[in-house]
Amino acid sequence: MVDSDRSKANWEKALRAMPEIEAKLGTELNCELIALSACAKRTTIYCPRRECGFLNTIPSNNKRVFPCGGCSKDISITAGTYFHKVQKFKPRLIMMELYERGIVLSANQLAKLTGVSTDTASRTLKRLALIAISEMRNLGIEIVSALCADAVCRRTTKTPAGEPPIAEETLLQLETNRQENEYSIVEMPDMSEEEKLVLQEISESGITFDQLAQKIALSIGALSAALTVLELKGLIEKQFADSYRRSKKLHLSMTMQEGDLANSHNAELAKIFVSFVKDFFQGLGRKYLQLYSALDWIAKDRRRWPSNSLIEFCASNRCVSEEEIEEYVTPLAFYVVPSSVLS
Ligand SMILES: [Zn+2]
Repeated sequence: MVDSDRSKANWEKALRAMPEIEAKLGTELNCELIALSACAKRTTIYCPRRECGFLNTIPSNNKRVFPCGGCSKDISITAGTYFHKVQKFKPRLIMMELYERGIVLSANQLAKLTGVSTDTASRTLKRLALIAISEMRNLGIEIVSALCADAVCRRTTKTPAGEPPIAEETLLQLETNRQENEYSIVEMPDMSEEEKLVLQEISESGITFDQLAQKIALSIGALSAALTVLELKGLIEKQFADSYRRSKKLHLSMTMQEGDLANSHNAELAKIFVSFVKDFFQGLGRKYLQLYSALDWIAKDRRRWPSNSLIEFCASNRCVSEEEIEEYVTPLAFYVVPSSVLS
């Protein structure tokens, strides 16, 4: 894996920022206190026990747990928030500090800086992104996921749930089909020569990757890139692990006609987003495009996300389950916030 110049520059920025962040956050205990007092700003909390449901006023003593005024059983003031059941607060707070400074780091880099596993860092980032998405609707512009095909790379390792990559693809395909049925059908956007070449060889009865590779004079990389794009455009679908066939339905909802101002603007936005992904994350599973677009926004929008805003946001936001992260699928059109709307 080769780090891009932007990624290297950000890593150095992060290293330079760390002493200041360390001084601000202090020990793990101090970080817990910071998070708890952010959670306590809600001032009241309902007892989570259904049979009780008493409305408690949160005591101002910065304790994580206090007895319910109704049933006397313990209530955690992080209940239902982003900090629900969190063991270590400091790694999360460091990540927030870095993103609030516009320093985008990959899960790998964050893991190195904060001492958590890459997997934990990745899930923490995705959790943050997931709750930020709903905030993007007013500022963001919707662009077609297919425009960002270049940012997508296939997973070669198992998913965080320990599933082989194919299971994730199947799930995604189902969700994509469901979404596509809700759209009207329009013309196909233009295709590259490689895509045309590959599409010609794929029939409704299907063909394997190896067979394709023998028939077409393309490198393995170019072939699999073309397949990914065709699949994203909904022209072909995967049957088994390595077999492709023509899609029976005409897919894709939006045309990308040249000369159309809005569309060329969208293509420009997509290009910027793709280079963001490539520079900082090398590539993504396509299901997470929307989540990383949210991270991009957090890192560049200082008006919406000034210093200390993320902790407030997280403390007042719901917790996101593991399942929700796993099941999240980027819609066919997703939000990107253009730099032009940020001051
Ligand atoms: Zn109670």
